[in-house]
Amino acid sequence: MKISHIEHIGIAVESIEAVLPYFENVLGLKCYNIEVVEDQKVKTAFLKCGEVKLELLEPTSPESTIAKYIEKKGQGMHHMAFCIEDGVSNALAEAEATGIRLIDKTPRKGAENLNIAFLHPKSTVGILTELCEH
Ligand code: ZN
Repeated sequence: MKISHIEHIGIAVESIEAVLPYFENVLGLKCYNIEVVEDQKVKTAFLKCGEVKLELLEPTSPESTIAKYIEKKGQGMHHMAFCIEDGVSNALAEAEATGIRLIDKTPRKGAENLNIAFLHPKSTVGILTELCEH
């Protein structure tokens, strides 16, 4: 696969409203978009940090994987997303062929209308890895 850059870093939070002052007032980053991704049961907030974005993820239901993550590990870094130049489907096939465990067998729609797919952290040095394309 061909990675062009880190698209964003996902951070699990209990409440976007509660943590935004830290990111905006202390770090001086600007939130430019808040959107709910229904099928993932999350509300997301995006902040720009140079070329990279921070994606704050707040659960909208106790069944959300983010809610379960926070329950187990607390708030904090949740995943890392790479921008794939030669397509997420390609990258998934390549990764699977080398024995990497996939969470998504095919790309799906994520926040900001990206095509996304996740690799399982058991296969990726403990880092939940998101592959994405515009
Ligand atoms: Zn993400």
